[in-house]
Amino acid sequence: MDKIVALCKRRGFIFPGSDIYGGLSNTWDYGPYGVELKNNLKRSWWKASVHNRDDVLGMDAAILMNPEVWKASGHLENFYDLKVDCKSCKKRFKVVDLKESNKCPECSGDLTEPRQFNLMFKTHQGAVEEEASLLYLRPETAQGMFVNFGNIIDSCHLKLPFGLAQIGKAFRNEITPGNFTFRTREFEQMEIEYFVHPDEADKKLEEWIEERYNWYINLGIKNENLRKREHSNDELAHYARACTDIEYKFPFSSAGESACGGAWSELEGIANRTDFDLKQHAKISGKDLEYFDAESKQRFYPYIIEPSGGVDRAVLAFLSDAYSEQEVRGRKRVLLSLHKDLAPVKIAILPLLTKRAEIVKLAKDICGNLKKQFYCVYDDTAAIGKLYRRQDEIGTPYCLTVDVQSLEDKQVTVRSRDSMQQERISIDQVAAYFRDKLGQD
Ligand code: ATP
Repeated sequence: MDKIVALCKRRGFIFPGSDIYGGLSNTWDYGPYGVELKNNLKRSWWKASVHNRDDVLGMDAAILMNPEVWKASGHLENFYDLKVDCKSCKKRFKVVDLKESNKCPECSGDLTEPRQFNLMFKTHQGAVEEEASLLYLRPETAQGMFVNFGNIIDSCHLKLPFGLAQIGKAFRNEITPGNFTFRTREFEQMEIEYFVHPDEADKKLEEWIEERYNWYINLGIKNENLRKREHSNDELAHYARACTDIEYKFPFSSAGESACGGAWSELEGIANRTDFDLKQHAKISGKDLEYFDAESKQRFYPYIIEPSGGVDRAVLAFLSDAYSEQEVRGRKRVLLSLHKDLAPVKIAILPLLTKRAEIVKLAKDICGNLKKQFYCVYDDTAAIGKLYRRQDEIGTPYCLTVDVQSLEDKQVTVRSRDSMQQERISIDQVAAYFRDKLGQD
């Protein structure tokens, strides 16, 4: 993990938050290549979850919601971590992490009685901080989709089964943030709420588990680093009847996430939330949230199957999985073998001889043209070997070099990141060549 963290900082993927002020406990800022990777990942998810399906639509709800939402959802009552403090070293621990010991794991000091900490961040709306203006930052994006169930039915005339999909920030006042971006207090979720007839819920749960597992595999995660794990009854959240986690074998340097047993930790959870949420919102809001089935003339509350993944955890998993070090001609080669759809930069355009103005101009012209279809960068700030190594480290699938010969034969050299093979391509064919290799960006 230390190597991934170092690469992320060195190559502009992820920086410690508020770095010049000494940081702010486990907050992270995505730099230029980090944000490209993250956006590519979200685009891939949106394409697979919304655009490629006939039964899922997207939405984008507000982060701040009426506090009644959190009463209805059970988050005010149930969204707690039990924690203890060490009376000697003053460190705080989650009770679930203590493995039945009643002594401090750091200094063996005595511990306080367990106390409950609500994980929701509080804030105030308006100029006056009073009880009436108390709001919460949403701890999950899901509720924004549940409270809009009626609006969606009325405006989009959907028939069951159908889903809503959303990507957005969520906030949890985690007691033990850590392991880089794995557990933070501010993070992004990508969630689908899939509404089904209760009789279909078990079948649809299985389908979504497969669908979501395959999404990671198709984008390049290695089989041996991904697994499914079904929750036992005592692990289930207050709203869930069944849940399977997709877990990734994260390269945590310590024992990692102890609750999950070593480095295998949750990447995404796929749960059967039953009709808990819709019934609760109907009860607290007084609004009718039942579904009317025109064929059977029945009214009922649909069940909800929820695939809920973390954007930041997925970025970390893809980075970890793609990272490797090789020895090439006596030198270390750090390589990110990211899937082409995820790679931050698709093509790097590198002139071999910057002293020749015609070469620089030709390289810049090619870059300008390719940019219309792919995210490309132009770089002439080092010798070619170093430029290749930089692109390998950020996972760029192709480098295109322009040399003296290019001025005469109107061809350029294209080098593939994965095979390290080079081939000469005619300049008027490069756009078609990359469309074939990369697909439409
Ligand atoms: P964990 O058991 O790791 O705390 P969770 O079961 O509480 O996670 P969910 O409520 O199922 O998580 O949230 C869905 C997804 O959101 C998780 O699978 C994870 O990818 C992401 N997520 C949840 N909490 C965090 C966090 N603190 N930091 C980063 N991502 C998170």
